[in-house]
Amino acid sequence: MSTKKVSKQDKLEAENLMEEVQEIISPCIKCGMCKSFCPVFKTLREEHHSPRGKAVILSEKILDKVLFQCNLCKACEVRCPLNIKVCDAIKKAREAMVLKGHELKQNKEMITNIRKTNNPFGNDPEKSKDKLYCC
Ligand code: SF4
Ligand code: SF4
Repeated sequence: MSTKKVSKQDKLEAENLMEEVQEIISPCIKCGMCKSFCPVFKTLREEHHSPRGKAVILSEKILDKVLFQCNLCKACEVRCPLNIKVCDAIKKAREAMVLKGHELKQNKEMITNIRKTNNPFGNDPEKSKDKLYCC
C-alpha cells in the first residue's frame, strides 16, 4: 500500500465514509447465506474473501487490501435476507482507503496508465499482465 500525507479534510471525509459503512453493515447477522454465491469466495475458498468475511472485517473497521478482492457483482446482495448492500459498503471503504493513502500500488498504476494511454494495462499489456489485474 502507498503512503501519503493525509490532509485534515481527507481524514474527516474518510471517517464519515466509515460511519456510512457501519450503518450499511451493522444489520448483518453473519448468517452466511451470501457466501456460496460469491465468485471470489468460490475461487479463493477462504472466509475473509466471502461477503460475510468482508462484512466482519468492515464491522471491525479494518481497512485491508482484501476489500479490493471483490468484483462488485452484487450476487451477495441478491441472496441476503436483509438486503444488505455489501457493494456499497465495500466501495465506500475503498474510497476511505484512497483518502487515507492506503490504496493499492497496482490501482495507482492502473489509474496512471488510463490517464496516459486510455488503457489500464498501459502501452504494453503483455508486460503488465502478471502484476496488474482487473476484476
Ligand atoms: S451480508 Fe446478509 S447474507 Fe451475508 S452474512 Fe450478512 S446478513 Fe447474512
Ligand atoms: S459483490 Fe463482491 S462480495 Fe458480493 S458476491 Fe460479488 S464478489 Fe462477492
